[in-house]
Amino acid sequence: MGFETLMGDEAIALGAIHAGLGSAFAYPGTPSTEIMETLQFLAEKQKAGKLDGVKEAFNAQWCANEKTAYESAIGSSYAGKRAMVSMKHVGLNVAMDPFVNSSLLDLHAGLVVVIADDPGMHSSQDEQDSRWLADFARVPCFEPATQQEAYDMTREAFEVSERFHMPVMLRITTRLAHSRATVKLGGILPQGKVKKPSAGMDWVLMPGIARKRWHAVLEKTKSIQAFSNDSSFNPVTKGQKKLGVITAGLALAYYQENLEEVMAANGGQAPYHLHVGLYPIPEKSVLEVYEACDEVLVLEDGYPYIERLLRGIVKPSKRILGKESGELPLEGELDPDNIRPALGLKARAVLPVPKTAMPGRPPQLCQGCPHVDTVNAIKEALQGHSISAVFGDIGCSTLAALPPYNLIEATVEMGASVGMARGASISGLKPSIAVIGDSTFYHSGIGNILDAVQHNSPFTVVIADNLTTAMTGAQPTIVPSSKMEAVVKGLGVDPAHIRVLKAHRSDHETNVRVIKEEIEHNGPSVIIMVRECIESYKKARKP
Ligand code: SF4
Repeated sequence: MGFETLMGDEAIALGAIHAGLGSAFAYPGTPSTEIMETLQFLAEKQKAGKLDGVKEAFNAQWCANEKTAYESAIGSSYAGKRAMVSMKHVGLNVAMDPFVNSSLLDLHAGLVVVIADDPGMHSSQDEQDSRWLADFARVPCFEPATQQEAYDMTREAFEVSERFHMPVMLRITTRLAHSRATVKLGGILPQGKVKKPSAGMDWVLMPGIARKRWHAVLEKTKSIQAFSNDSSFNPVTKGQKKLGVITAGLALAYYQENLEEVMAANGGQAPYHLHVGLYPIPEKSVLEVYEACDEVLVLEDGYPYIERLLRGIVKPSKRILGKESGELPLEGELDPDNIRPALGLKARAVLPVPKTAMPGRPPQLCQGCPHVDTVNAIKEALQGHSISAVFGDIGCSTLAALPPYNLIEATVEMGASVGMARGASISGLKPSIAVIGDSTFYHSGIGNILDAVQHNSPFTVVIADNLTTAMTGAQPTIVPSSKMEAVVKGLGVDPAHIRVLKAHRSDHETNVRVIKEEIEHNGPSVIIMVRECIESYKKARKP
């Protein structure tokens, strides 16, 4: 408790620590850089026992890029620790893959994504407005108007993330990030306990599961909209109705600075006013202001986000039919039949389809696939561990999430397995293993190894090297497999903990022993399991 004079970035860092932050990850970029700098400074103070009231240590790490930072944060959430990832607005373009896909996960501990927009391009190449991207990913977004709100909303964002089990964005702008004000501090929450979550298959974004998860996201949007409509961060103040005013974020301060004169010009009455601090925009309150007032002025930094949405929320004089109004399905594809009701047509007469008792045919690893031997070795090596986590990646190896293997617990996007396993391991969920194909590793798993080496993160990467890009039809891997060991060495992994094995049942005993050894290593280890994909072998030898 008490007061401190803080920059917006510092207020966010302190708000996160006081909310029980477990791990924070970032890539530097103005105006968000000071968030991580503050966290690292305070992490050192905490270690020295000089950070008031904060008893538990937390991680605060720079990463290779925004994508790897985001993936590590997902892993931390998986392990049950509150996580924060911060970046500038264009950094979110780099992290879009994990950002958008993580909204489909049933997140465990809170995950807050701080995005610092730079309207006016003080130090950036564009002015993009991240509120669109929060909307695109269908996640809630807070926009603080003051340093006090930056502190309070950071804390609240963790609560909201855990309430809806999805990431929450905190959007700030340069002037708020870099200006100072006195902030009243709150109590300090304890960190969550590391736990082995029973995620089932909810974290494995294969098409059949992803469709269910997407449905769950769409269901959640109704509750999130209701939450925003009733939020105290979106206050409405009734007033004179000639000109209604809607403000967002720091524009509130600019409005308040002029309010005295506005009132003087209007017989001493303030305008009808809605301030938006939480998105999705509170449709109920927007309609209230719109319907009550002759004209509505929208004050917002960045793109005309509210202004454009407002034109879609108000009732136009003619009906507009479509997905929002419910005439067309919000999920899945359009087809000639499901658009008929919207066209005023009756459903087409169709012949009934006879019911058959065909068994389901889920995708499977091929007979003789080298990944089967890798999976069996990992499973046996993990026997006896009461707690562990195995993260998968895009490609054939994801199929090890399905019976009879049931090994992979989470698959999010290209390269994410390494970041997630790293994030989970530094959060205390050990042993943590990433299983990634050779092609996916080169695509975007490689950057996470840099993070792992720099921070000596205690986890194991198993590269299932089948000498090809198998799932898309056996295209060549960008760097030949013969160079894999040298590449991993070049990334800085200790050569004693780079192990090259044959993914074959004849080597099963050796493979189990080596995996057992490496998951005990207190640093990053890489096991390269080599054997050519059966399909690629056949394709290469086709006459
Ligand atoms: S295509 Fe190759 S890597 Fe993929 S499941 Fe079949 S054998 Fe395994």
